[in-house]
Amino acid sequence: MFKLPPTRIYTVNLPKEKRAYCPKCKSHQTMKISIYKAGKRRGTARGERRHAERKRGYGGQKFPKLAKPAKTTKKVTLIETCTVCKKKMMNKGIRIRKFELIAV
Ligand SMILES: [Zn+2]
Repeated sequence: MFKLPPTRIYTVNLPKEKRAYCPKCKSHQTMKISIYKAGKRRGTARGERRHAERKRGYGGQKFPKLAKPAKTTKKVTLIETCTVCKKKMMNKGIRIRKFELIAV
């Protein structure tokens, strides 16, 4: 592992609530911010069954298994929930080592 310069910031602190535009209410409302988490994978889902089918038998592995990951960080996707109409909006994921939501 390479060492990153110490001047960079690795932790991002964001407030749990903020005021932003809601396209459903068509006005600025208080938004609750939460972190998106991927759902549990079902083994019976069509894509999972197809993947298992293709991997079966001799020479079934179609791509090399990842020996070491290229990225040292994971993307964090934020969900903004409107407190008035409960509409949820997702933003683009940001790459960060550590992410924290703080109460303001
Ligand atoms: Zn709204």
